[in-house]
Amino acid sequence: MPMNKIQKQCEVCGLSFVPKTVDSVYCSKKCSGAAYRKKKTQEKKKEEQQAIIDKISADRLYISVPEAIALFGVAKSTLYRLVRQKRIPAINLGTRLVRIDRAAIEEMFPIRQTPLKKEKPTAKLYSLEPQDCYTIGEIAKKFGISDSSVYKHIRKYSIPTRQIGNYVYAPKTEIDNLYNQ
Ligand SMILES: [Zn+2]
Repeated sequence: MPMNKIQKQCEVCGLSFVPKTVDSVYCSKKCSGAAYRKKKTQEKKKEEQQAIIDKISADRLYISVPEAIALFGVAKSTLYRLVRQKRIPAINLGTRLVRIDRAAIEEMFPIRQTPLKKEKPTAKLYSLEPQDCYTIGEIAKKFGISDSSVYKHIRKYSIPTRQIGNYVYAPKTEIDNLYNQ
């Protein structure tokens, strides 16, 4: 073997090979084909998971096991173990119909760091016109909490606001959804 030939390790089969170009990472057509199919399978899986995620509405309190896997990227065996250990509240609606408490699992697992695909711009479900909004003071009074709690919740749940003069407005629909649960 000439000394100037730099060997690489195939990313699929692990064997050493002499790369044809600096970009070669597979030893053979067979291995590059295998890598391609694996990549396609992963892409398809991501698409399927995204389709599941897209169907979950924001206000759902309980989610299914496939939905939890798609949302949190957590292994099925881990999920079932946590449910069995009662570390995540769940209800069992029958065989293969476990529904998991979404808030509990959200606390345990951070939402996937990278979005699977670019987020589609979602239609605004709220109006920021003053007549469709509460002021922070109105929210505090209506729901019996302090102004600072209102601000804290608005930040935590990313509720849109609008400032006009000295008043901060938040959409009634969003606030009602937040506090009427
Ligand atoms: Zn190979």
